[in-house]
Amino acid sequence: MDEKNIPIRTYQVCNVLEPNQNNWLRTDWIPRSGAQRVYVEVKFTLRDCNSLPGVTGTCKETFNLYYHESNEDRESYIKESSFIKVDTVAADESFTQVDVGDRIMKLNTEVRDVKVTTRKGFYLAFQDVGACIALVSVRVFYKTCPLTVRNLATFPDTITGADTSSLVEVRGSCVNQSEEREEPKMYCGADGEWLVPIGGCLCNPGYEERGGACKACRAGFYKAKSTDPGCAKCPPHSHSLRDGATICDCHAGFFRADTDPPSMACTQPPSAPQQLISVVNETSVVLEWTPPHRLGGRSDTSYSLECLICQTGSHSHTGGRFCAPCGSDVLFSPGQTGLTTTRVVVSELRAHTHYTFIVHARNGVSQASGAGAAQSVSVSVTTNQAAPSPVSSIQATDVTRHSLSLSWQQPDRPNGVILEYEVKFYEKDQRERSYRIMRTFSRSVDVTGLNPLTVYVFHVRARTAAGYGEFSTPFEFSTNSDPFPLIGEGVNSAFLLLSVSGVGILLLISAAVFIISRRRSKYSKTKQDSEEEKHLNPGVKIYVDPFTYEDPDQAIHEFAKEIDVSSIHIEKVIGMGEFGEVCSGRLRVQGKREIYVAIKSLKAGYSDKQRRDFLSEASIMGQFDHPNIIRLEGVVTRCKPLMIITEYMENGSLDAFLRKHDGQFTVIQLVGMLRGIASGMKYLSDMNYVHRDLAARNILVNSNLVCKVSDFGLSRVLEDDPEATGTYLSPGGKIPIRWTAPEAIAYRKFTTASDVWSYGIVMWEVVSYGERPYWDMNNQDVIKAIEEGYRLPAPMDCPVVLHQLMLDCWERDRAERPTFSQILNMLDKLIRNPGTLRRTGGERYLQCTKAKTEISSSKWSLCEWLQSIGLERYRDTLAAAGYTSLDSLLALTHHEFSSHSLLMALKQTCFAFVDCI
Ligand code: AMP
Repeated sequence: MDEKNIPIRTYQVCNVLEPNQNNWLRTDWIPRSGAQRVYVEVKFTLRDCNSLPGVTGTCKETFNLYYHESNEDRESYIKESSFIKVDTVAADESFTQVDVGDRIMKLNTEVRDVKVTTRKGFYLAFQDVGACIALVSVRVFYKTCPLTVRNLATFPDTITGADTSSLVEVRGSCVNQSEEREEPKMYCGADGEWLVPIGGCLCNPGYEERGGACKACRAGFYKAKSTDPGCAKCPPHSHSLRDGATICDCHAGFFRADTDPPSMACTQPPSAPQQLISVVNETSVVLEWTPPHRLGGRSDTSYSLECLICQTGSHSHTGGRFCAPCGSDVLFSPGQTGLTTTRVVVSELRAHTHYTFIVHARNGVSQASGAGAAQSVSVSVTTNQAAPSPVSSIQATDVTRHSLSLSWQQPDRPNGVILEYEVKFYEKDQRERSYRIMRTFSRSVDVTGLNPLTVYVFHVRARTAAGYGEFSTPFEFSTNSDPFPLIGEGVNSAFLLLSVSGVGILLLISAAVFIISRRRSKYSKTKQDSEEEKHLNPGVKIYVDPFTYEDPDQAIHEFAKEIDVSSIHIEKVIGMGEFGEVCSGRLRVQGKREIYVAIKSLKAGYSDKQRRDFLSEASIMGQFDHPNIIRLEGVVTRCKPLMIITEYMENGSLDAFLRKHDGQFTVIQLVGMLRGIASGMKYLSDMNYVHRDLAARNILVNSNLVCKVSDFGLSRVLEDDPEATGTYLSPGGKIPIRWTAPEAIAYRKFTTASDVWSYGIVMWEVVSYGERPYWDMNNQDVIKAIEEGYRLPAPMDCPVVLHQLMLDCWERDRAERPTFSQILNMLDKLIRNPGTLRRTGGERYLQCTKAKTEISSSKWSLCEWLQSIGLERYRDTLAAAGYTSLDSLLALTHHEFSSHSLLMALKQTCFAFVDCI
């Protein structure tokens, strides 16, 4: 009976009285079944030798466990020596006679394990060497790691390894509707535990993980990629009807472009552009329109222009009843197709001709929508009469001592019927002091009554009903000394001889000049290079970097006049410069009237480098001569303190001046100031000088509101500009971040185009009366926001054209920015047509307020709201940053809000936005 009084069978032996016992009990063959290590659990009872009288020496309290591996399941006799010993097993418990009397048995349980790897199966054997023992049960088993699913991979039931420390590497297989992300693997430990799961699977598109399995997305949901976290709700204007959708189908009338991600809402093509207006200027037309009323939920609207030339009298808009496409010689600026701006200048049109222009709007889904033809709006115009273009070349034939015959071609663009040509000519020596005019209906004229052997200059112009065109460029011809004309080009031998000897003399003079200039040879190598450059561009003066001089004093005396200190009368301190005080005072130079001047002095105790840097500004300034560049009067270097004397600018620096007079100027006055700055900058760029620190603080204003560019210190740019409060440390120097073009910040690419960027910022400073660009955003946020496409918005009451000009200056691609010459032309045009300055973006502020009301009642989507405040171009950027709904923006904490540079920038753009948040 066992402990529960259930009868059990046992194998017993109890030969304790006789010595040298060797009794064996052997099991049947046990198949291994793939196991590599088997466990043997033996239950037995053993009698305590002490409880048996007279057995000392013969009684034992242990038995031995053996095994023998074999492929044969019916071995009848196995030699003792073929068995391998597993262990000698002793009892933990033993029972005494008393226990027997109580019919209580104490069972021992011992487990041993043994590696069985060589044969199909094995036998176990028990050897008794003289114990009193009863074997109750033997259980033989092996261990497995049970079937399991981890990371969407199934791992099968796995038998453990042969050794107690061995790990079995197991490869999992992906569950249904899933694919491998990374090979799934796990290790099966010796005691049947799974260890170290690696890799795993991902549910296929259209499926998501639920309870360790991949389940299909329900209708109304989709999953596009296996890496997407789970099924997502169909985006706006789309649906999925069946389970397991990988993309949602667009509602009827909505579309998705090939490049649109499945997470994007379905969208529509735009409606037609609106309010197309045309302004005709002789043979060019400026077309301007406003964006379509409906953008279809997208921000990639682009425009293309169709140009039709229509017969006189025809007013048909399209259809080509009387119209045909314009020729390829018509010019469109900035282009004819793929336009993202809403203004095009069409030029090189025929004079007095009817044209029809059709502006098409399309976006990313125009093609997909099958509509093909984009929504469009058209306008018909008639170009004005225009004067003929200049005659491009004039030939002379039949040259004699007193006459010659001129002939020429009709102008390239007569712009009408040519009624007459006018020939103006004069002796070259006389210049235009006295000239003669001849008129002719034909394209040739005989000019008589000329002096012999004299060079004459001829200009020809044409006249149509629209008036005279421009004169041609000058053409020079000489009369003969020979009474007999030469056939051909009208050049006689005497003239040839004279020309040849003239050329000879010229050559001699140039050689002499060259030798003399070599002798002088006081320039360093670089200086010579730039001198040569000057010769390459005759007439254009090029700025010379004073740092290319080995001796800085040489540069200063080359470009600045030394002033005697006794002619300077200092009156008061007006500011603080980098090197010391700036004073105002008077300068009286002999023979000239007294003038007011600003005096910058170099404070005592300066280093050599500081002296050089201080004087470099004068060496630079001294090379310039322009009404919008601060004029250098001279320097004092022969006695201390060193001084730089410049013209006095009564109103000081522009930024402080504007802040002091906030809102007090008319737009035309502001544009006038900007024009002055642009004109100065054009001059500097023509001289190849890059300013690098153009900012309102570096513009000075005189009593007549004339603005002049100043601050030409080189050291400042390379080291530090204390005025540029927002500076940013970069290897090699500090840069005034807010004023500087991205390429100059990123890799120090300073060019005239980067000066143009800074000029755009100055425009913004001027129109906002000295507001700090990008307000209180920090430098890093400014850099990030610019990188993300943000640009400063139009200041309050800023004319749209001016803001557009600013945006042009802030083109990311520096080649796309206007030149100073173009800026100057544009500002001149604005000043001539003040009407164009009337349109301001003031409406947007009203819309912001309206948005505030709408948003609080949660009626709007994020997209609609951005659209309403004219900021829909930021939608994708916001979406990429994870903000797709108004709720997601509204849920932002103040901290999160201010850590996102784009949002900070938007906050500044629309004040209502802040209140909404
Ligand atoms: P700067 O070292 O050139 O930045 O000059 C420091 C300050 O002195 C400027 O911000 C101006 O307020 C003043 N200042 C410099 N030059 C002149 C000038 N030519 N006329 C009037 N004020 C000047």
